[in-house]
Amino acid sequence: MEKDVTLAQIEFRNVTKTYGALAAVKDLSLSVRRGEFLTILGPSGSGKTTSLMLLAGFQAPNQGEIFIAGKSVAAVPSYRRDQGIVFQSYALFPHLNVRRNLEFPLEMRGIKAAERTMRVDRILARVHLDGLEDRMPSQLSGGQQQRVALARALIADPPILLLDEPLGALDRNLREQMQTEIKSLHKEFGITTVCVTHDQDEALTLSDRIVVMRAGRIEQTDTPEAIYDRPATQFVAKFLGEANILENPGFTIEANAPQPSGTVAMIRPERICIVALNAPKRVDVDQYQSVTGTVDNMIYAGPLRKYHVRVGSTLLVVREHVASGRRALQPGDEARVEWLRSDVRFVAV
Ligand code: ADP
Ligand code: MG
Repeated sequence: MEKDVTLAQIEFRNVTKTYGALAAVKDLSLSVRRGEFLTILGPSGSGKTTSLMLLAGFQAPNQGEIFIAGKSVAAVPSYRRDQGIVFQSYALFPHLNVRRNLEFPLEMRGIKAAERTMRVDRILARVHLDGLEDRMPSQLSGGQQQRVALARALIADPPILLLDEPLGALDRNLREQMQTEIKSLHKEFGITTVCVTHDQDEALTLSDRIVVMRAGRIEQTDTPEAIYDRPATQFVAKFLGEANILENPGFTIEANAPQPSGTVAMIRPERICIVALNAPKRVDVDQYQSVTGTVDNMIYAGPLRKYHVRVGSTLLVVREHVASGRRALQPGDEARVEWLRSDVRFVAV
């Protein structure tokens, strides 16, 4: 089938960027649909920021090309690319107050004073910063600075929004609050968004699709659910949460399909049930694999208990939601651990 290019707002075509001998981005091909929220996720140094800087026009590729709305942007300077950008460090102008920071992108576009004032007032209200317009950036909390940076990126109504680790500097509660805020802004503005982060929760929460990067290359591209539940590789499985990798586990793995060569079995800790040895058998026992082991330790984490269970030569991580009426098993207890055969995944090594 012919690819529908009108749907691709942004396209990287075989893009490589080298710094001396180092290829920070290698032969990257990627398209982002109009209105999509796409997150590039990967460890530090995997080429995320470089990819974003190439898209923003602050860096130029050594090979390959980037297209926006079907046109190559090779010759388009960054200030003409019409993108809102939130940098990792927020990069607010320190000598300008909040209002002047927000007016700046409008001035650049030649928008008149009265219109600027109106737009600034509107976006200030939208990001809950009304009343703070006269403050200098240094007089704002991290969360407030982050909101100003977001507002500044959105105020000129650009078709594309770029975010580099936008929530990295915020503490946990504020991060969750801002995730919700970014999600609702994305919905409201319908803006094509490319976000880069090393934080898997952020990626899973915000994105329509996630691109996992490793050493300058794409490891997997998929929806959050697919990437978490059906990781293609061991690297992706481990980067997106905890994974039990069952390599020569000392028991035979019963799966529903034969194991492809070059793969290893993987199961997520929350897909494993742990019960006392004498617990009644399941009625649908034939769908499960059941093994016995010994509890090595139990970690209490509020709503969760995390167990390490020794089974054969393997230490399995099991995560269970604390529910009333369920007693915790203790280190040294014998236990039965069980999982649905259909929950076993084979991931490339
Ligand atoms: P990430 O954002 O995923 O942490 P970056 O894109 O910043 O990764 O960096 C990818 C690789 O390129 C890293 O090894 C980094 O050290 C290198 N790099 C990034 N920017 C430069 C630069 N301006 N000069 C030389 N090397 C760089
Ligand atoms: Mg970076």
